[in-house]
Amino acid sequence: MAVRFDREAVENMLERWRERLVPEWTVRLLWHENPADEEGGKDVQARVDPSEHYLSAVIALGPRWKSGFTEGSRVRDLDPEYELEVVLVHELLHLVLHDLSHVVESLEDLLGGPVYGRVSDEYVHNEERAIDRLARALVAR
Ligand SMILES: [Zn+2]
Repeated sequence: MAVRFDREAVENMLERWRERLVPEWTVRLLWHENPADEEGGKDVQARVDPSEHYLSAVIALGPRWKSGFTEGSRVRDLDPEYELEVVLVHELLHLVLHDLSHVVESLEDLLGGPVYGRVSDEYVHNEERAIDRLARALVAR
């Protein structure tokens, strides 16, 4: 199953969820060639970059969303539109929790390297888990 995502349709989908979840934010969509590059990760589906300019962010979608799914993709049996919607909602939920993650980041000097590293890793891990659950529950069909 190969599905191509039309940029305008994806932007409309993003806009619907932006209005619901973070109406105060401005969010721009980027058809990024490879969002994994900057972080050295692999198979990054998407990434959100909140800018220093408060309440504005860019969501970069990985190349798989631009070119669609091809035969042999590990997610070919899933519903690609549902998966894309979950990815967009996931990134928007990071904006919902943006201030909360700042609370953790603000502890770096206070806690020092090793303790902060542990707290930060735990926070990030658990934030990802919570966001995944919420995104799937919100988009559930
Ligand atoms: Zn995430």
